[in-house]
Amino acid sequence: MERRDFFQQTAVMGTVGAGLTACASTVPLSIAKTPFNVVPVTIPVVGSDEVFPVRRIYCIGRNYAAHSREMGSDPTREPPFFFQKPTDAIQYVPIGKVEDHPYPTLTKNYHYEAELVACLGKGEKNIPVADALDLVWGYSLGLDMTRRDLQRALGDEKKPWEIGKSFDRSAPIGPIHKVAQTGHFKQGTIWLKVNGQTKQNANLNQMIWSVGEQISKLSEAFELFPGDIIYSGTPENVGPVVRGDLIEMHIDGLPNLSVRIV
Ligand code: MN
Repeated sequence: MERRDFFQQTAVMGTVGAGLTACASTVPLSIAKTPFNVVPVTIPVVGSDEVFPVRRIYCIGRNYAAHSREMGSDPTREPPFFFQKPTDAIQYVPIGKVEDHPYPTLTKNYHYEAELVACLGKGEKNIPVADALDLVWGYSLGLDMTRRDLQRALGDEKKPWEIGKSFDRSAPIGPIHKVAQTGHFKQGTIWLKVNGQTKQNANLNQMIWSVGEQISKLSEAFELFPGDIIYSGTPENVGPVVRGDLIEMHIDGLPNLSVRIV
């Protein structure tokens, strides 16, 4: 190994070490001998040379009433439910750039879902709603990209919808803003345009379960750790994109995110 590679690798391992959790290997990665490198997933932090190490990606389903209805559910009777995407589903989208986003295999109905993303800097089990926002380290905005045809078909067959939701690059995301700079996002416009035409347009205060409530509920099912991020659900009017389409999304208080489907 070249000396330069060694130092790069050591730097990467330092990042991993900060994100190690009780569930990880019992041998610290900094001293373990591995046959190959697995690159940890990180997201740049605005106004900082730090990067945010991603441990898990949680997503909440049907968290806006009108979207819940368009998906065929009754939002008044449904407790929150969650699914996960693999961390390497992250596609980082820098501010002010239009990032190419590849149309995935296997689908003929590829949908956008514009979402606020909460990024945790502390962990906890069974955290009360009143304390839950204390875990939030920062916020970003992202897309929960979905192979809708496969999600629906698998759901209809009562099979896991993994390949409908949790595939490569299914989680485009902007840089993370520290909560100290932005405050918490309890209201504000969230919109998404395709080729300049407004498709989704709602307010964060229309979430059925607030970010704090989501964290509290999640912490009943999973012990949360620093590095966990939560896609907080999408408003109504999800829909398809095809190759060549330009997606632009906005949340009040954050810079817009743009991708082109290629
Ligand atoms: Mn979603």
